[in-house]
Amino acid sequence: MDIRIGQGYDVHAFVPGRALWLGGVQIPSEVGLDGHSDADVLLHAVCDALLGALALGDIGHLFPNTDNTWKGADSKKLLAICHERVASLGYQVINLDCTLLLEAPKIMPYSVQIRETIAAILGIGPSQVSLKATTGEKLGFVGRKEGACALAIALLKKV
Ligand SMILES: [Zn+2]
Repeated sequence: MDIRIGQGYDVHAFVPGRALWLGGVQIPSEVGLDGHSDADVLLHAVCDALLGALALGDIGHLFPNTDNTWKGADSKKLLAICHERVASLGYQVINLDCTLLLEAPKIMPYSVQIRETIAAILGIGPSQVSLKATTGEKLGFVGRKEGACALAIALLKKV
């Protein structure tokens, strides 16, 4: 069996006056993440994990922030495009494991919705999408609530 693994990492800064999107779900918050697109840090890490698994470059290469096409883009659309690339090469996601690092707000109440949203885009079941969250223990940029960080690992198989 042809199996490939990929990892993704992303960071965005918190700013007032922006909606907070995490894993394709809008989460009530006084601050949102800053970026060219909707700045969904979790979906961006997932995109990079998929692209990385097949050595297809990275999200910045595919959707440059100099291209106005992607200004304010819904990252669910970006993930769907990355998934199309993977599927067109004959690969399917076996499982995805994600970690979100942010001090606030608490995202676990939205965990099921986020996992279902990501799974639907990837054409897999929510049991194949893991989401964990942790704080920065008040250390570093995460701990100071300056930004959020996401990590994702994807395992793919050729079908
Ligand atoms: Zn990003």
